[in-house]
Amino acid sequence: MVIDFSSIMHQRIKLSQMRIGVDLDGVVADFTKGWTTQYALDFGKEISEEEITDWGLSKPLTHFEKDLDFWNWAMDINGSSIFRHLELYENSQETLVELSKMGHEIVIISSKPWWSIHDTLIWLGENKIPTKEVHFIEDKWTIDCDAYLDDAPYQLENFLKKVPEKKIIRFERPYNSHSEGTYSIKEWSDLIPLLNSF
Ligand SMILES: [Mg+2]
Repeated sequence: MVIDFSSIMHQRIKLSQMRIGVDLDGVVADFTKGWTTQYALDFGKEISEEEITDWGLSKPLTHFEKDLDFWNWAMDINGSSIFRHLELYENSQETLVELSKMGHEIVIISSKPWWSIHDTLIWLGENKIPTKEVHFIEDKWTIDCDAYLDDAPYQLENFLKKVPEKKIIRFERPYNSHSEGTYSIKEWSDLIPLLNSF
């Protein structure tokens, strides 16, 4: 019997070198909890995660006329932006560390407003996110990865349109929905079993 070691090795090498493009807000950082908590403090209205079924952050979800009004509020909360003190989603950082130890590359790909970048870099360090590569970019699909993890409906759509051959993974949130050709996870603990199944 001839065993094709080269193909076994190839598979191993490929697995150990997977580049995983990871979005931050709504995936690693709990942006929803962060802004709704601050919103309740500033404006006295509680908004639950389940109420956020659309991508926009203006009326009728909040009192803001336009999304730009939301961002004008969110860019300066007591001297820093809303992105400065976001909580981690359960098991997110631990899973990223485990993936790094397995040999995968964690590539952070975030489309943030320019004014939030320094806060985000501090946040990545403080929260010990294991990455050597951080991109702030709107066209996320241009950053070459084997798999992408995102929550934004329009970004998932872009990945599907531009790089349908890649593994596109949706983090399930009330404001996104399943698209043919993508994978979905509900919890961070679902990610490694999914990646191992590829
Ligand atoms: Mg996001």
